[in-house]
Amino acid sequence: MDPISARPFKSTPYWWDDCAFSALPVWPVIPRCDVAIVGGGYAGLSAAIELARAGRSVQLFDRQPIGQAASSRNGGMASGSIRPGRKQLIRRFGEARANGILMEGKAAREDLWAFLEEEQVECDFFLSGLFDGAINDRECEELSRYAELLQRFLGIEAFSVSRAEVSRYIGTEVYAGGFARMDIGGLHPAKLLAGILRVARATDAVIHEDTAVLAMVAEAGGVRVATSRGEVFAKKALVCTNAYTDNFDPWLRRRLVPVRSRIVATEPLGNGVMERLMPKRMMYGDTRQLSYYYRPSPDGSRILFGGRDGTTEGDPLSPTTHLRSELGRIFPELAGIGLTHSWFGQVAMNRDMIPRMFTVGDTIYATGFCGSGVVWARWLGKKAAFKLLGQTEKALSAFDFDPPPKAVPFYQGKPWFIPIVYSLYAWRDKRAMRRKNEREKR
Ligand SMILES: Cc1cc2nc3c(=O)[nH]c(=O)nc-3n(C[C@H](O)[C@H](O)[C@H](O)COP(=O)(O)OP(=O)(O)OC[C@H]3O[C@@H](n4cnc5c(N)ncnc54)[C@H](O)[C@@H]3O)c2cc1C
Repeated sequence: MDPISARPFKSTPYWWDDCAFSALPVWPVIPRCDVAIVGGGYAGLSAAIELARAGRSVQLFDRQPIGQAASSRNGGMASGSIRPGRKQLIRRFGEARANGILMEGKAAREDLWAFLEEEQVECDFFLSGLFDGAINDRECEELSRYAELLQRFLGIEAFSVSRAEVSRYIGTEVYAGGFARMDIGGLHPAKLLAGILRVARATDAVIHEDTAVLAMVAEAGGVRVATSRGEVFAKKALVCTNAYTDNFDPWLRRRLVPVRSRIVATEPLGNGVMERLMPKRMMYGDTRQLSYYYRPSPDGSRILFGGRDGTTEGDPLSPTTHLRSELGRIFPELAGIGLTHSWFGQVAMNRDMIPRMFTVGDTIYATGFCGSGVVWARWLGKKAAFKLLGQTEKALSAFDFDPPPKAVPFYQGKPWFIPIVYSLYAWRDKRAMRRKNEREKR
């Protein structure tokens, strides 16, 4: 129940209202295959398409019905961005790899746009551009340098937005300025997943939903995979379970931190309000550490507003109230707005905040998308498939790393430290906002 409007809100994603997944046919588990894939989101299904098209016998297992995890719950912002800036990347990996990482984002986005066209995937895709709001002048300068870098280095249409110009992009007084890049789009994430699933089902890949992988053990010549519906020996395995990784792979769990992200949908706002608040119907974010991401719904009728959800028990009220109050801080006229949906899903963070694939024996992992998997999960699922196929050139990726260390020292897979990290981030954000307000008073 929404405590403000006193109307019930749905705890299922807004996207599910017009995109339902029907149960897949049940096939027997085949005792031998070339490749076993664990996880049926963007990554696993995209890998299945490439592997099956190359003639490999493929079985994909998902412990849930397809369409329950992050790939149909996300914000649909097809950004393919990377959290660390270029300087940080150079410090960590050297200039060549840092440049490779940045350039691959462009290639990955374009590959997604091409896939949508070639396979005629209808997912309300719109190359809307993204506006990032800066919280103070220092962040404005940083964004301006970033815009210049994107333009000069990658030829991306990107530009800084002064405080006076902000209202052309978004109807708020909160930001001291910002930046826009026009190479990022919005889409309907569940329809995208349904489209990838349709393409995968047209291949010979066998998709087993409601079939959990319970354990995987390396053996001579491959991997023995125990599932809830029988055992399989696969020559190779591909793990695409990201933030939903369970105890079938405790090793991977220690390398990823699952973090809950929540989105609320407002009730329909009317054309006039949408025109005032989101005149260019872009995707939106800001530079806060506890950043928020928001966008218009594909039909332009309402706002979908997302951010971190620090709860662990699934009580939707406090994080929903929190998101509504942040929405109201950015757009004061929405302070008491009714909500129709409030849902959450898990995103997977890793230590250096860079998505990756890596290989351990006969198993490849494509994982750690850090909340940006609409572009990356599909791309790295494909790259992992090319690697399994031995297609060296196609498999080349700046995101092909050695297996990562534990995400946090002594970490066993339960992120007990999240509330502490959030408090620290919230404190830093408050300090940044205070600086902005003090400057404005002067
Ligand atoms: C609320 C929210 C908002 C987001 N917003 C955005 C956004 O706007 N833009 C963006 O780029 N990204 C966003 N993301 C991130 C993006 O959705 C993910 O990075 C992406 O969907 C990951 O895809 P995937 O295929 O790796 O994993 P998933 O789609 O999460 O699929 C993993 C699958 O593995 C299965 N699995 C786990 N364990 C087992 C097992 N033992 N046996 C069998 N199957 C198993 C699960 O059931 C699940 O279906 C968001 C995520 C959330 C939750």
